[in-house]
Amino acid sequence: MSPPETTELEARLLALIKANGPISLADYMADALGHPHDGYYATQSSLGADGDFTTAPEISQVFGELIGLHLVQSWIDMGEPEAFNLVELGPGRGVMMADVLRAARVRPGFLKAARLTLVEASGRLRHEQQKRLRALNVDADWKDAFTDVPEGPLLLVANEFFDCLPIRQYERTELGWRERLVGAREDGAALAFTVASAPPAADAGLPPADDHPLGAIFETGEAAAALGADIAARLVAAPPGRALIIDYGRVRADVGDTLQAVRDHAYWPVLTAPGRADLTAYVDFDGIARAAIAAGAGVHGPVSQGLFLERLGLAARLEKLCAGKSPAEQAAVHAGAHRLAAPSAMGEIFKAMAISSPTLPAPAGF
Ligand code: SAH
Repeated sequence: MSPPETTELEARLLALIKANGPISLADYMADALGHPHDGYYATQSSLGADGDFTTAPEISQVFGELIGLHLVQSWIDMGEPEAFNLVELGPGRGVMMADVLRAARVRPGFLKAARLTLVEASGRLRHEQQKRLRALNVDADWKDAFTDVPEGPLLLVANEFFDCLPIRQYERTELGWRERLVGAREDGAALAFTVASAPPAADAGLPPADDHPLGAIFETGEAAAALGADIAARLVAAPPGRALIIDYGRVRADVGDTLQAVRDHAYWPVLTAPGRADLTAYVDFDGIARAAIAAGAGVHGPVSQGLFLERLGLAARLEKLCAGKSPAEQAAVHAGAHRLAAPSAMGEIFKAMAISSPTLPAPAGF
């Protein structure tokens, strides 16, 4: 048997933990994914058949095309501004944006008005996005964070972005909830979960401990809620605009450990070889919605991805795509759509939610 794989990042985290004590899961996640030198985004080719995982736009072009139609309708709802920021958070390989722009050709004014900003942490993925958009003759700007997006009307999309944001976990112990931390195994040779000795802050947003059995895990997504609040605050202060968030997760917060690592299309131990595997967790839609509403924005959904795509015209789009194709090609188109929309596949666990300037009507698909 080969020795277990370790990474430089793991060695560094172990040294840090030895010197200063355990770190929060949020800090671990942020480092494992985002460390500028050794993090997952800096070192791995994450997406597609050769990567670690597959996403909706990688499965079928129908996904991005329907999002494109949703965005065009939002632009119309906004009064067809002559210039607006079209922003994508975490565009991956740029596949969805390419499909969005192709579908948006039905409204040349939309394409003329769109100023494209892509918020992307990975240098490799920025490069792929640039290549794909250049082939379409489209210019874009890249930014590190949502707060860097230029002023002006806003249409934002984020598919499978919020699930990458760091979460915290709390474990029900005999003393009540205690934050779950990343520490070291007794021999100091590997990372291991531990719990904080002090109780969590009173405003951590935890349910009554007595309602849950020993060992139960409760997750909080402060980073996701904070980003939802930032987006909402901008949509309120500088209308009109909308944000469409699509991700896997829960409508209401509940107990359960949803943190998962994925590598080569298979599950991977969360604390092993940090930086080599993707890490994601369920998105707490309710937490984002509450933050957005508190900031004064309108919130629509979440609705299941299957329903959302159907309402945007999935059936008609499939008919169009299948026209003139061979039976085998038609079957492939339908298989892709089934994966996106069927409740037994991605249709139910993935959800869509919109944050809107309060003056706008309900968006298409909601
Ligand atoms: N939306 C794409 C990719 C999803 S994977 C798709 O559906 O195929 C997550 C994407 O978010 C990747 O592009 C990743 O590099 C990016 N990302 C994750 N966390 C980020 C952060 N904090 N800042 C900027 N980009 C981030």
